[in-house]
Amino acid sequence: MIATADNERHKDAVIIGGGIAGLQSALDLADQGYKVAVVERQASIGGRMISLSKVYPTLDCASCITTPKMSAAAHHENIELLTYTEVDSITPGPNGHTVVVTRKATHVNADKCIGCRLCEYACDTEYPDDFEQGLGSVRAISVAFTNAIPQKAVLDADYCLACGLCLRACPTDAIEFDQQPRQETIHADVVIVASGFQLNALTIKPQYSAAQNQNVISPLTLERLLAPHGPYGRVLRPSDGKIPESIAFVQCAGSRDQSIGVPYCSRVCCMYAIKQAMLLSGSLPTADITIYYMDIRAFGKGYEQFYQNAKAMGINFVRGKVSKIDSVDKDDLLVHVEYTEEPQDCVRKQRHDMVVLAQGMIPQWNPTSFSPVQIGSDGFVATPDSVSPCTTNVPGIFVAGAAAGPKDIVDSIAEAGAAAMEAGRYLSKRAHLDHTARTVALELIA
Ligand SMILES: Cc1cc2nc3c(=O)[nH]c(=O)nc-3n(C[C@H](O)[C@H](O)[C@H](O)COP(=O)(O)OP(=O)(O)OC[C@H]3O[C@@H](n4cnc5c(N)ncnc54)[C@H](O)[C@@H]3O)c2cc1C
Repeated sequence: MIATADNERHKDAVIIGGGIAGLQSALDLADQGYKVAVVERQASIGGRMISLSKVYPTLDCASCITTPKMSAAAHHENIELLTYTEVDSITPGPNGHTVVVTRKATHVNADKCIGCRLCEYACDTEYPDDFEQGLGSVRAISVAFTNAIPQKAVLDADYCLACGLCLRACPTDAIEFDQQPRQETIHADVVIVASGFQLNALTIKPQYSAAQNQNVISPLTLERLLAPHGPYGRVLRPSDGKIPESIAFVQCAGSRDQSIGVPYCSRVCCMYAIKQAMLLSGSLPTADITIYYMDIRAFGKGYEQFYQNAKAMGINFVRGKVSKIDSVDKDDLLVHVEYTEEPQDCVRKQRHDMVVLAQGMIPQWNPTSFSPVQIGSDGFVATPDSVSPCTTNVPGIFVAGAAAGPKDIVDSIAEAGAAAMEAGRYLSKRAHLDHTARTVALELIA
């Protein structure tokens, strides 16, 4: 039951999504003095970037460069973070947009929680950790991850046994088993959609055997395996904990394929596969690493050099199309690949310990169900004005980052800055119009 305590408030801007794009837009607007609310459906801001190991092309530690931005947003006097919050509707009107959101029940009083995690240590119910791609486990009450922002515990009612261990452990009486979700309404002059992406199913191509063999993994799983603070602290293959000696990357495994509804290129897969291959060769220096690709798209600043460096490091690049992957001897994998370069038209079978599938990037959120924002044929938010690529079909609603299409971090940040700029321009035009209307009205009265 949703309690109807309708809290209403006004903001200059509402940003949907607390990933790197949403945070950049929020900071850019807040620095100009605008009041901003960031609505994030997860318990922490940070988006996909906070779960990556290192980022191409610089190989900077992802959390080292994301955490300061998260922290800057959390401490900015003009930014309010609404985490664990879903957007219910966006209704444009003559005086701005009405955004209705639901604050999901965390069953923890956020004002009282001090993030000490004593509840988490006391809890003895565990379930697979989404942040670790299911490789680790998490307690039924926990802080989302080590450097989560805010550092507040969330109790997952689906797994909680209501045993009371957390209640007894909490030093501030913050646990509220009977907390209900509540709806809030935000009146905002502008909205920026920065809801990012998700990957299509690992099993979307049954011929790659991901449903049958745990060692066919997602690139996000490999990000966690490579992260220094990841589930195992080193790279082990999921089925039996063996250190893999031969790892393959299969590119375009969920993109550039009409038959699965993703005809477009996901743009980031070539580069992150090269990055992951380089990181793997650092942590497993004797392993054989092969990237099966159709063509390498290394289009950004410094990316071609990054690709050449990977080749020089001994990463094996095979140009060809993988037709299927079979399990052999239970845990190993046999990759069937048709070469498209010398020796051409030759089909080979190669055995590997672990295979990483480059899944396609698809939108995380479709706003059309409850807002007039138009969606393009690829499912991402449409940007009809090619000279103003952050604007949508609705005046005052802008888009940034991967919500508008597959994009890497550099491009997401640049676009987020542009969206904030457009939004700021829109806000100052509105303020100017309001001022002119008031002056005209006063003159008429006088
Ligand atoms: C395996 C992998 C490795 C990568 N490595 C790199 C790399 O090394 N370098 C690089 O440049 N790029 C890399 N990328 C790409 C990078 O992850 C993206 O460019 C970046 O995350 C896009 O940021 P974003 O803020 O647009 O979206 P996201 O990171 O997806 O953030 C969107 C946020 O919006 C929230 N959200 C969604 N819907 C709603 C809703 N309805 N209400 C409230 N909140 C919502 C989500 O919970 C999320 O927090 C990689 C991608 C993958 C898949």
